[in-house]
Amino acid sequence: MSKAPRIKADRETKDETKAGNYFVSNYPPFAFWNDSDIQCVESMVNSPKPSERPLGLYYHVPFCRKRCHFCYFRVYTDKSTKEIRRYLAATLKELQAYADSPYLQGRKPEFVYFGGGTPSSLSVKDLISLTDEMKRILPWEKAEEVTFECEPGTLTEKKLEAIKNLGVTRLSLGIENFKDHILEINGRAHRSEEVFKAYEFARGLGFDNINVDLIAGMLEETDENWSDCIDRVIDLSPDCVTIYQMEVPFNTGIYKTMKEQGSLTAPIADWQTKRRWVNEAFERLESEGYSVTSAYTAVKNPEETKFVYRDSLWTGADMVALGVASFGHLGGIHYQNLTHLDQYCESIETGKPVVRRALLTNEEELFVREIILQWKLGRVYPSYFQEKFGIDVQERYAEVFEAWERAGDLEKREDELRLSRDALLRVDSMLYDLFLPRHKDSA
Ligand code: SF4
Repeated sequence: MSKAPRIKADRETKDETKAGNYFVSNYPPFAFWNDSDIQCVESMVNSPKPSERPLGLYYHVPFCRKRCHFCYFRVYTDKSTKEIRRYLAATLKELQAYADSPYLQGRKPEFVYFGGGTPSSLSVKDLISLTDEMKRILPWEKAEEVTFECEPGTLTEKKLEAIKNLGVTRLSLGIENFKDHILEINGRAHRSEEVFKAYEFARGLGFDNINVDLIAGMLEETDENWSDCIDRVIDLSPDCVTIYQMEVPFNTGIYKTMKEQGSLTAPIADWQTKRRWVNEAFERLESEGYSVTSAYTAVKNPEETKFVYRDSLWTGADMVALGVASFGHLGGIHYQNLTHLDQYCESIETGKPVVRRALLTNEEELFVREIILQWKLGRVYPSYFQEKFGIDVQERYAEVFEAWERAGDLEKREDELRLSRDALLRVDSMLYDLFLPRHKDSA
């Protein structure tokens, strides 16, 4: 955990970007995950499998060519082939233990997600042997989607061909920006020329779904350059465009510099500007036939282009987390693995537990988690929550929803509550209204 002073994150979102996490990625907040619930994970994997609950696999690759200045993940930029192979072997051992457990026996993942870090930083040889072994341990033939995150500068046609042959259906390219100067001062390893080459190779190989990531509000971003980035994305014509608004958590290089300079305000655009940029991108993409399907994504063909990982996770699927610092969710228990590479490998090798913190949730917390995550799609269906949890969300959140409606943020349709575009772009700041009282202050 960061030892940084507690500076309250900018929940209001009207102002400058302050240090802290703005986005709500899970619920209950991480501050409530603890040591004493670690044993619940062990009990869960030793209990009988559920009759019907989708299963997914998240595989974390913690290696990158370079650490971006806005990065808040644990990544390693200096590991040798030997150290990387030690890690891959440890993750396979971890997978084997899960596959042998009563909770997983006979179950097959419906989605597989390779995230990081940079999965595409692995060599072709390592990728093939890793995934052959993974499939032998827990076959993927039922997987509707296999996502693979890539850093464009690590991709050659040969590597992309190998990635396609692994069974990857959704290729996610971390482009972030098209201007080399901006990529450079934000610490990115790739340059725009590599983006165009990688994209062309990937299109030629016929991936089902290509997603590109952009970040609104990188250091030195301008109106003019942002508009140019949108033009370039439209020219590429990917199946899905994901746009993040830049946040500056405490464990980033940007925050380190802020601290040295005694500044509480990040040297990037304020929240209103970032929202305006995302809005501009969404409007331009919509005029090209895309549909906005969440606070962060626009897709070309929503009928065909799915995001199984997100939709399964946000409706309560189980997900086995593999690898260092990885986050998982099994039978209502959240957990995260050890966050240091050596400690993780050593624990696996010596048969010690690798879960670092966990949280056993109750039914009410699971309900709040789902409604919070599903609001990020810009709409919720009351009948879904009535059927699954027996809760009338309109009654439960009557005051909150009335306030949202009065502010013009919410529109009620038949069995659908929908956020306005303006509200969607700042949805993460609204979600705190839905937290249980005991979770509000520490979030
Ligand atoms: S590529 Fe992604 S994971 Fe790697 S350092 Fe940059 S932001 Fe972090």
